[in-house]
Amino acid sequence: MTDRNELLSDLTQFENALADTYAAIGKVKQSLTETMSENACLRLENDRLRERLAELEKNEPVKSPAVASSLMKVYDEGFHVCHEYYGKVLEDGETCLLCQEVLFR
Ligand SMILES: [Zn+2]
Repeated sequence: MTDRNELLSDLTQFENALADTYAAIGKVKQSLTETMSENACLRLENDRLRERLAELEKNEPVKSPAVASSLMKVYDEGFHVCHEYYGKVLEDGETCLLCQEVLFR
């Protein structure tokens, strides 16, 4: 009887530990997703600012192939570049018409 109770108690502890681990993995995953989104936003922002700085230094508007290719790269890596969902993660295989409008207009 004691053996059985001990076994059940061990299993319950194991179950609780697994639930905690599962919750921790969920939090890390969420945090990683947010960090990746933030990183994508910052890279895009950084490229825009570089472009703007180059314009100011030359005192003339510059065509921005660098920004365009940077947008394409970030989109290819799986992040929105459209105004609506800027920097959010695209699901696997997902495409976004708004992003494509930004990229190919
Ligand atoms: Zn989009």
